[in-house]
Amino acid sequence: MYKPTIGLEIHAELKTNSKMFCSCKNDPDEKRPNVNICPVCTAQPGTLPVANEEAIKKVIKTGLALHCKIAEASKFDRKNYFYPDIPKGYQISQYDQPLCGKGYLEIQGRKIGITRIHLEEDTGSLLHPEGADYSLVNLNRAGIPLMELVTEPDITSGLEARRFAEELQLIMKYLGVSDADMEKGLMRVEVNISVSKTKTLGTKVEIKNLNSFKVVEKAVDFEIQRQTELLENGEKVVQETRGWHDKKEVTFSQREKESAHDYRYFPEPDLPQLHFEKEYIEAIQSELPELPAEKRARFSAEYGLDESQVELFVGNKDLSDYYEKIASEGNNAELHKLMANYLITDVMGLLNGKAFVEAEFKITPENFAEFIGMIQKGDINSKTAKMVLAEMFGTGVDPSTIVKDNNWGQMKDDGELEKIIAEVMAKNPKPVAAYKAGNKNALQFLAGQVMAATRGTANPQKVREKLTELLH
Ligand SMILES: [Zn+2]
Repeated sequence: MYKPTIGLEIHAELKTNSKMFCSCKNDPDEKRPNVNICPVCTAQPGTLPVANEEAIKKVIKTGLALHCKIAEASKFDRKNYFYPDIPKGYQISQYDQPLCGKGYLEIQGRKIGITRIHLEEDTGSLLHPEGADYSLVNLNRAGIPLMELVTEPDITSGLEARRFAEELQLIMKYLGVSDADMEKGLMRVEVNISVSKTKTLGTKVEIKNLNSFKVVEKAVDFEIQRQTELLENGEKVVQETRGWHDKKEVTFSQREKESAHDYRYFPEPDLPQLHFEKEYIEAIQSELPELPAEKRARFSAEYGLDESQVELFVGNKDLSDYYEKIASEGNNAELHKLMANYLITDVMGLLNGKAFVEAEFKITPENFAEFIGMIQKGDINSKTAKMVLAEMFGTGVDPSTIVKDNNWGQMKDDGELEKIIAEVMAKNPKPVAAYKAGNKNALQFLAGQVMAATRGTANPQKVREKLTELLH
């Protein structure tokens, strides 16, 4: 049995106002090419870099959230390689003194080790117009602060690799260090993977350009199988970089891997060494918000919600902030559950695939809480509740006004209900006779008639009870 050994390298563009070594705007949404550029990030002779402290803080913050050892001293290095999207001919990165050392991230009870997190600058991007004998370069992205996290080879499956990446994305969003959108390329995942039957590790293959979590999982599982089959057939795994073919769902060879010495790393002479005092790190530590794992634990303990509901709230900040506002208006577990159910099922249904954005949501937390209270007290039944909610969703009007204006209050008067049942029975002698002759299905028909006569305001359970009673 071949055992896979998997490690990840994850890059994330940091959310800062300016670039890593100059004051150009850091704007990943800028569509016009070469707008956010200057002599520094286009590598004009004589320019000097100045490190962006906000970016350094954000990497340290991420390290603290992942239990990493933060370096007391750190420095930048030049990673030399020539490629047209990197105008200096080298990238400023970190080699042997990264900002963050060993740490871990817990995924479903398993600690996945983190080797290091360092800070570097992103490259520009190239465009190859179809049929043209030239390429175009866009340097808007050149010099945007880029965080690179490297894990220990602790991951053992495609699913675990995916879960690690998803959890890291969530943490980065909670910390506000990166928007970490994979589709936009703000977060990029690379996988190092080998398989072996013995304690000696097999030959490592790197897979690049994985643009979604699903693809990360698929590519890892595909690669485990490919390498296992090669070895079982007595062939060898080649050390190389492979890409992912989206349509064919296979990995394919891209190039043979460079090793570190090919980059001729050396200390960046134009930037000073970094030294961090204890107080500086402690101040960043004190800014850490509640993290996803803590929120999960709190949501299940405080509100008694089930796992899938908790997960939905943990993954959706706006929705969970709103939920906490309405939950604060009620203080019992039954109410909290009812609130979660209506918010997750019914409101999401009304949103019809659109994201929940509190600023665009017309129902105030007070009105939502009042609405749930009306359901719990039996003032409206579940069918009416759906109509009230739809109206609140569209207009923002408070629920008691909606119920009053439409005369939708649940019929609580037994006398009135009995009167309506008597009328329905008088109008439907055949079903009544059928029921009395033993046809139980007739009850369902009569109950429907009664509900219609009350315009849906009666409690269906009560209608069946009363009907059964009066039919005897
Ligand atoms: Zn610049």
